[in-house]
Amino acid sequence: MIKAKKSLGQNFLVDKNILEKIVNSTEIFNKTILEIGPGTGNLTSYILKKNPKKIFVIEKDNELSSNLENKFYNQITIINEDVLKVDETKLLKEKVTVFGNLPYNISTEILSKWIINLKDNFWFECLVLMFQKEVADRIIAEFNTSNYGRLSIICNWKLNIKKICDIGPEAFSPKPKIHSSLLLFHPKQNFIKINDPNNLEKVTRVFFNQRRKMLKKPFNQLFNGDQKVLDKLKIDLNLRPQNLNLDTYYKLTCEYENLRS
Ligand code: SAM
Repeated sequence: MIKAKKSLGQNFLVDKNILEKIVNSTEIFNKTILEIGPGTGNLTSYILKKNPKKIFVIEKDNELSSNLENKFYNQITIINEDVLKVDETKLLKEKVTVFGNLPYNISTEILSKWIINLKDNFWFECLVLMFQKEVADRIIAEFNTSNYGRLSIICNWKLNIKKICDIGPEAFSPKPKIHSSLLLFHPKQNFIKINDPNNLEKVTRVFFNQRRKMLKKPFNQLFNGDQKVLDKLKIDLNLRPQNLNLDTYYKLTCEYENLRS
Protein backbone atom coordinates (compact mmCIF):
# COMPACT_ATOMS: atom_id res chain seq x y z
CA MET A 1 0.00 0.00 0.00
CA ILE A 2 1.47 3.36 -1.06
CA LYS A 3 1.31 6.24 1.43
CA ALA A 4 0.79 9.56 -0.38
CA LYS A 5 3.50 12.15 0.30
CA LYS A 6 2.13 15.62 0.93
CA SER A 7 5.46 17.26 0.14
CA LEU A 8 5.25 15.94 -3.44
CA GLY A 9 1.60 16.96 -3.86
CA GLN A 10 0.48 13.36 -4.17
CA ASN A 11 -3.28 13.28 -4.75
CA PHE A 12 -3.98 10.41 -7.07
CA LEU A 13 -6.79 10.59 -9.62
CA VAL A 14 -9.26 7.78 -9.06
CA ASP A 15 -12.41 8.95 -10.89
CA LYS A 16 -12.77 6.80 -14.00
CA ASN A 17 -14.96 9.35 -15.82
CA ILE A 18 -12.35 12.06 -15.35
CA LEU A 19 -9.51 9.75 -16.40
CA GLU A 20 -11.54 8.92 -19.51
CA LYS A 21 -12.17 12.62 -20.18
CA ILE A 22 -8.47 13.43 -19.92
CA VAL A 23 -7.40 10.83 -22.46
CA ASN A 24 -10.22 11.85 -24.78
CA SER A 25 -9.18 15.51 -24.74
CA THR A 26 -6.63 15.01 -27.52
CA GLU A 27 -5.38 12.36 -29.98
CA ILE A 28 -3.10 9.72 -28.40
CA PHE A 29 -3.06 6.92 -30.97
CA ASN A 30 0.43 6.60 -32.50
CA LYS A 31 1.66 9.76 -30.72
CA THR A 32 4.68 10.09 -28.47
CA ILE A 33 3.46 10.98 -25.00
CA LEU A 34 5.23 12.60 -22.07
CA GLU A 35 3.46 12.20 -18.75
CA ILE A 36 4.61 14.28 -15.80
CA GLY A 37 4.11 12.95 -12.27
CA PRO A 38 2.42 9.63 -13.16
CA GLY A 39 2.22 8.66 -9.48
CA THR A 40 0.59 5.24 -9.16
CA GLY A 41 0.04 5.09 -12.93
CA ASN A 42 -3.74 5.54 -13.02
CA LEU A 43 -3.66 7.96 -15.94
CA THR A 44 -0.76 6.02 -17.53
CA SER A 45 -3.01 2.94 -17.83
CA TYR A 46 -5.69 4.97 -19.60
CA ILE A 47 -3.11 6.47 -21.97
CA LEU A 48 -1.74 3.00 -22.80
CA LYS A 49 -5.22 1.77 -23.74
CA LYS A 50 -5.22 4.37 -26.55
CA ASN A 51 -2.14 2.81 -28.19
CA PRO A 52 0.43 5.60 -28.20
CA LYS A 53 3.64 5.14 -30.15
CA LYS A 54 5.72 5.59 -26.99
CA ILE A 55 5.33 6.93 -23.44
CA PHE A 56 7.95 8.73 -21.38
CA VAL A 57 7.10 9.47 -17.78
CA ILE A 58 8.93 11.77 -15.38
CA GLU A 59 8.38 10.91 -11.70
CA LYS A 60 10.45 12.39 -8.88
CA ASP A 61 9.45 9.88 -6.20
CA ASN A 62 11.87 6.91 -6.10
CA GLU A 63 9.37 4.52 -4.54
CA LEU A 64 6.66 5.33 -7.08
CA SER A 65 9.17 5.07 -9.92
CA SER A 66 10.17 1.50 -9.02
CA ASN A 67 6.49 0.66 -8.57
CA LEU A 68 5.80 1.93 -12.08
CA GLU A 69 8.73 -0.13 -13.34
CA ASN A 70 7.08 -3.28 -11.93
CA LYS A 71 3.59 -2.34 -13.03
CA PHE A 72 4.35 -1.36 -16.63
CA TYR A 73 7.65 -3.19 -17.16
CA ASN A 74 8.51 -2.72 -20.86
CA GLN A 75 5.65 -0.50 -21.85
CA ILE A 76 6.93 2.88 -20.70
CA THR A 77 10.24 4.74 -20.29
CA ILE A 78 10.60 6.00 -16.73
CA ILE A 79 12.73 9.03 -15.92
CA ASN A 80 13.12 9.12 -12.14
CA GLU A 81 13.89 12.86 -11.87
CA ASP A 82 12.58 16.26 -10.93
CA VAL A 83 10.71 17.60 -13.97
CA LEU A 84 12.07 21.07 -13.28
CA LYS A 85 15.61 19.78 -13.89
CA VAL A 86 14.92 17.83 -17.08
CA ASP A 87 15.67 19.40 -20.46
CA GLU A 88 12.77 18.08 -22.56
CA THR A 89 14.31 19.30 -25.78
CA LYS A 90 17.33 17.01 -25.20
CA LEU A 91 15.29 14.06 -23.98
CA LEU A 92 12.84 13.96 -26.87
CA LYS A 93 13.59 13.41 -30.53
CA GLU A 94 10.14 14.34 -31.77
CA LYS A 95 7.24 16.56 -30.75
CA VAL A 96 5.20 15.13 -27.92
CA THR A 97 1.80 15.39 -26.31
CA VAL A 98 2.20 16.21 -22.64
CA PHE A 99 -0.12 15.11 -19.84
CA GLY A 100 0.46 16.50 -16.39
CA ASN A 101 -1.50 16.21 -13.21
CA LEU A 102 1.12 18.32 -11.51
CA PRO A 103 1.60 19.13 -7.88
CA TYR A 104 0.17 22.62 -7.45
CA ASN A 105 3.23 23.93 -5.66
CA ILE A 106 5.32 23.63 -8.83
CA SER A 107 2.74 24.83 -11.33
CA THR A 108 4.13 28.37 -11.46
CA GLU A 109 7.64 27.07 -12.11
CA ILE A 110 6.31 24.75 -14.79
CA LEU A 111 4.52 27.64 -16.46
CA SER A 112 7.68 29.66 -16.38
CA LYS A 113 9.79 26.81 -17.77
CA TRP A 114 7.41 25.61 -20.47
CA ILE A 115 5.41 28.67 -21.41
CA ILE A 116 7.18 31.92 -20.61
CA ASN A 117 10.53 30.66 -21.86
CA LEU A 118 9.07 28.71 -24.76
CA LYS A 119 11.21 28.98 -27.90
CA ASP A 120 9.48 29.36 -31.26
CA ASN A 121 10.36 25.80 -32.35
CA PHE A 122 7.76 24.31 -30.01
CA TRP A 123 8.88 20.99 -28.51
CA PHE A 124 5.28 19.81 -27.93
CA GLU A 125 2.17 19.34 -30.03
CA CYS A 126 -0.06 20.09 -27.09
CA LEU A 127 -0.15 20.23 -23.30
CA VAL A 128 -2.96 18.80 -21.19
CA LEU A 129 -2.36 20.19 -17.71
CA MET A 130 -4.24 20.29 -14.45
CA PHE A 131 -4.14 23.42 -12.29
CA GLN A 132 -5.74 24.67 -9.15
CA LYS A 133 -9.05 26.12 -10.41
CA GLU A 134 -8.20 29.70 -9.37
CA VAL A 135 -4.93 29.57 -11.33
CA ALA A 136 -6.67 28.11 -14.40
CA ASP A 137 -9.31 30.85 -14.19
CA ARG A 138 -6.57 33.47 -14.30
CA ILE A 139 -4.82 31.76 -17.22
CA ILE A 140 -7.93 31.74 -19.43
CA ALA A 141 -9.47 35.03 -18.28
CA GLU A 142 -10.73 37.45 -20.94
CA PHE A 143 -9.87 41.15 -20.81
CA ASN A 144 -12.34 43.39 -18.93
CA THR A 145 -12.74 40.74 -16.22
CA SER A 146 -11.29 40.73 -12.72
CA ASN A 147 -9.27 37.53 -13.27
CA TYR A 148 -7.49 38.98 -16.31
CA GLY A 149 -3.87 39.84 -15.66
CA ARG A 150 -0.23 38.92 -16.14
CA LEU A 151 -0.83 35.17 -16.19
CA SER A 152 -3.51 35.45 -18.91
CA ILE A 153 -1.35 37.75 -21.03
CA ILE A 154 1.85 35.72 -20.72
CA CYS A 155 0.23 32.29 -21.22
CA ASN A 156 -1.87 33.35 -24.24
CA TRP A 157 1.03 34.92 -26.11
CA LYS A 158 2.15 31.83 -28.06
CA LEU A 159 -0.57 29.35 -27.10
CA ASN A 160 -4.27 28.81 -27.69
CA ILE A 161 -5.83 27.67 -24.43
CA LYS A 162 -9.10 25.87 -23.77
CA LYS A 163 -10.67 24.61 -20.57
CA ILE A 164 -11.68 20.95 -20.76
CA CYS A 165 -13.42 20.63 -17.40
CA ASP A 166 -13.42 21.45 -13.72
CA ILE A 167 -12.62 18.61 -11.32
CA GLY A 168 -13.83 18.38 -7.73
CA PRO A 169 -11.75 17.10 -4.79
CA GLU A 170 -13.69 13.82 -4.67
CA ALA A 171 -12.01 12.69 -7.92
CA PHE A 172 -8.74 12.25 -6.01
CA SER A 173 -7.37 10.11 -3.23
CA PRO A 174 -6.47 11.51 -0.80
CA LYS A 175 -8.94 14.37 -1.38
CA PRO A 176 -7.23 17.76 -1.79
CA LYS A 177 -8.76 20.88 -0.20
CA ILE A 178 -9.03 22.66 -3.55
CA HIS A 179 -10.88 22.36 -6.86
CA SER A 180 -8.94 21.77 -10.06
CA SER A 181 -9.35 22.54 -13.77
CA LEU A 182 -7.93 20.81 -16.79
CA LEU A 183 -6.55 23.01 -19.56
CA LEU A 184 -5.49 22.19 -23.11
CA PHE A 185 -2.71 24.29 -24.72
CA HIS A 186 -1.86 24.32 -28.44
CA PRO A 187 0.94 26.33 -30.07
CA LYS A 188 -0.29 29.28 -32.14
CA GLN A 189 0.66 29.41 -35.81
CA ASN A 190 0.98 33.19 -35.61
CA PHE A 191 1.83 35.37 -32.68
CA ILE A 192 3.30 38.83 -32.22
CA LYS A 193 7.11 38.66 -32.19
CA ILE A 194 8.69 39.86 -28.97
CA ASN A 195 12.49 39.57 -28.81
CA ASP A 196 12.84 38.91 -25.11
CA PRO A 197 10.00 37.37 -23.05
CA ASN A 198 11.44 39.12 -19.98
CA ASN A 199 10.19 42.36 -21.51
CA LEU A 200 6.64 41.02 -21.61
CA GLU A 201 7.03 40.07 -17.97
CA LYS A 202 8.33 43.54 -17.17
CA VAL A 203 5.66 45.47 -19.08
CA THR A 204 2.83 43.42 -17.51
CA ARG A 205 4.41 43.67 -14.05
CA VAL A 206 4.51 47.46 -14.24
CA PHE A 207 0.98 47.76 -15.63
CA PHE A 208 -0.61 45.33 -13.18
CA ASN A 209 1.31 46.56 -10.17
CA GLN A 210 -1.70 48.69 -9.29
CA ARG A 211 -4.53 47.08 -11.17
CA ARG A 212 -7.24 49.39 -9.87
CA LYS A 213 -5.43 52.57 -10.89
CA MET A 214 -5.59 54.25 -14.29
CA LEU A 215 -3.01 53.50 -16.98
CA LYS A 216 -1.35 56.89 -16.85
CA LYS A 217 1.26 56.17 -14.18
CA PRO A 218 2.57 52.82 -15.47
CA PHE A 219 2.51 54.11 -19.05
CA ASN A 220 4.60 57.14 -18.11
CA GLN A 221 6.97 54.97 -16.12
CA LEU A 222 7.72 52.78 -19.17
CA PHE A 223 7.19 55.16 -22.07
CA ASN A 224 7.78 58.57 -20.60
CA GLY A 225 4.36 59.72 -21.85
CA ASP A 226 5.20 59.00 -25.51
CA GLN A 227 2.11 60.27 -27.41
CA LYS A 228 3.10 58.42 -30.62
CA VAL A 229 2.75 55.06 -28.86
CA LEU A 230 -0.64 56.06 -27.45
CA ASP A 231 -1.90 57.12 -30.87
CA LYS A 232 -0.52 54.08 -32.65
CA LEU A 233 -2.09 51.61 -30.21
CA LYS A 234 -5.20 53.75 -29.56
CA ILE A 235 -4.76 53.62 -25.80
CA ASP A 236 -6.90 55.76 -23.50
CA LEU A 237 -4.93 56.46 -20.32
CA ASN A 238 -8.12 56.82 -18.31
CA LEU A 239 -8.70 53.08 -18.63
CA ARG A 240 -7.41 50.45 -16.20
CA PRO A 241 -4.90 47.64 -16.91
CA GLN A 242 -7.62 45.00 -17.25
CA ASN A 243 -9.27 47.00 -20.07
CA LEU A 244 -6.42 46.51 -22.56
CA ASN A 245 -6.72 43.35 -24.64
CA LEU A 246 -3.98 40.73 -25.12
CA ASP A 247 -2.64 42.08 -28.42
CA THR A 248 -2.29 45.58 -26.98
CA TYR A 249 0.07 44.22 -24.31
CA TYR A 250 2.13 42.31 -26.89
CA LYS A 251 2.32 45.41 -29.10
CA LEU A 252 3.19 47.60 -26.11
CA THR A 253 6.07 45.22 -25.36
CA CYS A 254 7.31 45.56 -28.97
CA GLU A 255 7.17 49.35 -28.61
CA TYR A 256 9.06 49.07 -25.33
CA GLU A 257 11.74 46.99 -27.09
CA ASN A 258 11.93 49.48 -30.01
CA LEU A 259 12.41 52.32 -27.59
CA ARG A 260 15.37 50.59 -25.97
CA SER A 261 17.08 49.27 -29.10
N1 SAM B 1 -0.78 11.63 -12.25
C1 SAM B 1 -1.08 10.91 -11.03
C2 SAM B 1 -2.57 10.73 -10.89
O1 SAM B 1 -3.29 11.50 -11.54
O2 SAM B 1 -3.02 9.88 -10.15
C3 SAM B 1 -0.47 11.58 -9.80
C4 SAM B 1 -0.67 13.06 -9.65
S1 SAM B 1 -0.05 13.77 -8.17
C5 SAM B 1 -1.04 15.24 -8.09
C6 SAM B 1 1.50 14.50 -8.62
C7 SAM B 1 2.62 13.52 -8.98
O3 SAM B 1 3.79 14.28 -9.36
C8 SAM B 1 3.08 12.62 -7.84
O4 SAM B 1 3.23 11.32 -8.32
C9 SAM B 1 4.42 13.20 -7.40
O5 SAM B 1 5.29 12.24 -6.84
C10 SAM B 1 4.96 13.75 -8.70
N2 SAM B 1 5.89 14.88 -8.54
C11 SAM B 1 5.87 15.84 -7.59
N3 SAM B 1 6.83 16.75 -7.81
C12 SAM B 1 7.47 16.35 -8.94
C13 SAM B 1 8.58 16.88 -9.68
N4 SAM B 1 9.19 17.99 -9.31
N5 SAM B 1 8.98 16.21 -10.78
C14 SAM B 1 8.34 15.06 -11.18
N6 SAM B 1 7.31 14.54 -10.52
C15 SAM B 1 6.87 15.17 -9.41
